[in-house]
Amino acid sequence: MNGPTIWLMVSLLANIGMAVALWRFVRTNRQRRDELKHRQQAQIDDKERIAIALEGARLGFWEWDIATDSFRLSARSLAMFGLTSDEEVGATHAAWQARIHPEDLPVVLAKVRAYQENPSEQLECEYRVRHRSGVWIWVLDRGRWLGDAGRQLIVSTLLDISSRKEMEQQLLRMAITDPLTGLSNRRAFNERLQLEWERLKRSPEIQAALVLCDIDHFKRINDTYGHGCSDEVLKHFASRLREHVRATDMAARIGGEEFAVLLEAASIEDAQVWAERFRQDTAATAVVCGEVSISYSASMGVALLDPRLHSVEQVMQQADSALYQAKRQGRNQVVGAQVFQN
Ligand code: GH3
Ligand code: MG
Ligand code: MG
Repeated sequence: MNGPTIWLMVSLLANIGMAVALWRFVRTNRQRRDELKHRQQAQIDDKERIAIALEGARLGFWEWDIATDSFRLSARSLAMFGLTSDEEVGATHAAWQARIHPEDLPVVLAKVRAYQENPSEQLECEYRVRHRSGVWIWVLDRGRWLGDAGRQLIVSTLLDISSRKEMEQQLLRMAITDPLTGLSNRRAFNERLQLEWERLKRSPEIQAALVLCDIDHFKRINDTYGHGCSDEVLKHFASRLREHVRATDMAARIGGEEFAVLLEAASIEDAQVWAERFRQDTAATAVVCGEVSISYSASMGVALLDPRLHSVEQVMQQADSALYQAKRQGRNQVVGAQVFQN
């Protein structure tokens, strides 16, 4: 091979080498670009999936950058409270706090504070937030801490649990309410009486009294006028009772035609005066049921919640004995229990 031929061969090989290198470079670059595009697409897909999942779960969220105190609600959260833009809630945590129910706020703040101190715990809280219309929306708030060297961020999801809360409250109301009269039932009364008894043990200077009422000859009313009209008598008695007690007292239907009243800040004399006035009022008013007008009366036994007694059951027994005595003495009267003697 002569010189020019060798040179031609070398130059050809060099060109081939360069072409291969260039092809490799282009291919790697294209692969990298495709991978990046793929990764970006996957991220977009993930974001879309998360957004769809949040939407499907009806979850809103908020995020709070603690260092800059910038607070943001997601579009779904804003919609949950009838709001349209961040400006309406304000962009700080204080503005958010202003929308939280005052009864719930101390608990919410205590939980957030505890969470900031110990972010390994889950931030979870149920509370009420004011809707634009003024009604309260119950939310379940579940948050995570996103703290690192440069940032202190809490991101939290919000779920509207108003209908569950409404159902819970309805069940609770049903569990403590007498369905016929709407008064509290025996269970609720006993719980309140127990609380009052414990309060009295701590501060005996503020007295309280118990009045047991039993409608006289109710069986006769039932037999004469039928169940429908007898029920009207029970409702009538309950509504008169409701009118006679103060907001701090408690009236309850504790049995068929038996009622109980807890009178706060009342001595045995106060309670007897109250019961006598109510007895007279009951005897003086009649219940109109269809064509008939039904007059009826009630007997009452009064006892003081005397902290020197052993238990609240003993108070009940005293009031019950006084009521029994009122029945024995001819009904339609008030009898006070014997005051405790040392
Ligand atoms: P007393 O003066 O001694 O209290 O006599 P009474 O007839 O009122 O008492 P008794 O315990 O003999 O009868 C109570 C009646 O109350 C018996 C029961 O049929 C009736 N009763 C209990 N619960 C209801 C109710 O929810 N509706 C109606 N209509 N009657 C009821
Ligand atoms: Mg009875
Ligand atoms: Mg009776």
